[in-house]
Amino acid sequence: MSPFLLYSDGKGTIFEDQALYAVGRSGWDAMPVPEDEWIELPQGGQLYELPGRRGIGIDVKTGEMRLCDKGWAVAAFIPPAHTGFYLAAYETAPDAPTLPLFCYTAAGWHDEKFFVPATRIEDDIRQENEGFDIPKVEAGVTHLLKAFPQNRLVAHLANNCALTYHCPAARNFFIGRWECPIPTSPACNANCVGCISFQPEEETIFSTQDRLTFKPTAEEIVEYTVPHLETAPYPIVSFGQGCEGEPLLMWKTIRESIIEIRKHTQKGSININTNGSDPVAVKALCDAGLNSIRVSTNSARRELYLPYYRPNNYQFEDIIESLKVVRDAGGWTSINYFVFPGLTDSVEEYEALRQLIIDTDLNMIQWRNFNIDPDWYLGKVSVHQTGEILGVKQVMNLLKEEFPLLKFGYFNPPIERIKGNYQKDFAH
Ligand code: SF4
Repeated sequence: MSPFLLYSDGKGTIFEDQALYAVGRSGWDAMPVPEDEWIELPQGGQLYELPGRRGIGIDVKTGEMRLCDKGWAVAAFIPPAHTGFYLAAYETAPDAPTLPLFCYTAAGWHDEKFFVPATRIEDDIRQENEGFDIPKVEAGVTHLLKAFPQNRLVAHLANNCALTYHCPAARNFFIGRWECPIPTSPACNANCVGCISFQPEEETIFSTQDRLTFKPTAEEIVEYTVPHLETAPYPIVSFGQGCEGEPLLMWKTIRESIIEIRKHTQKGSININTNGSDPVAVKALCDAGLNSIRVSTNSARRELYLPYYRPNNYQFEDIIESLKVVRDAGGWTSINYFVFPGLTDSVEEYEALRQLIIDTDLNMIQWRNFNIDPDWYLGKVSVHQTGEILGVKQVMNLLKEEFPLLKFGYFNPPIERIKGNYQKDFAH
């Protein structure tokens, strides 16, 4: 089965071109997608038209690869819990605008349905679009704003995160279930090219949310997280959210909060999503009772990490050390791994990732779609050509074989899953 290429008329209407089969992109190269890697576009997925870009496809008659000149290229934004294997393939005009911070997976049309090369990597349903009952979210917002009238953080999570950005974690908090967010830091010690909470003036794209503007107190944090841990199913409270800078810059307040939370409840998991820049602070949080860490990275290689993260005052080796510190303390460790076909599945990256897993005794890889304009990203990290690739699916299979205890997913696991039956104990 080879789906037909999709194109748009530039006014939001999408068509299939029955003269061209859809292909994928890996790094800078367009290539056919193996037939068994196409799946129907999952519910919650969206399609984007890509201005200033012409789609590349395989001519149904000649078998030659060529451009579609009928309209703009089209890509898919695949929903959370799914990982894309190939990017959309297109040729970019010199004056084309930089694309906003979303993922651009290949897409095609077959048998009256949209298809994408991807896999469902996570069974947990916490971010299923159809799972959010908006009146329930709004009722939760009203209830918790009344319950915590002086709490700036609850007000931020309500008015900005849940009602404006439609953040799944904030919405789950107001529905009283699963993972609850705790943003704490207005500042960051990195300058990621694709930062979703801060984009420098000179860039033409915008951050998808604004950064927190205040430093919450431990009291504000403890006030709403303890009831959540006590009452929510599969409860997790997570420091480090998309609407802030780096939480480790607030480690003293976080430590104080963890100590206070654990005075009131032993339930659930206390997690931190972080750039992992300060292993000493991480150690202090483990001593206080931190249960799990998720360190974000675009690569297991220093030479690709540095031009993307542009750290102010830390080294690549520090993020590795932070993973080791949590593992040594008996905590659960994940990497939030930004998947970029052509780099993630290069032979060099695969070898470096294997070594990272071995060196840190890693528990889990969260295979995240990289929300960034592919051309822009490759330019920023100075990758002008991409070498031999294994295929993202193949890399997953090889790692699964070599590391049978290593977990794959998309979300931080609850303590029930970490300590209990990993295959059963989660939101489903
Ligand atoms: S570490 Fe996070 S907050 Fe800091 S620059 Fe990178 S994406 Fe932005």
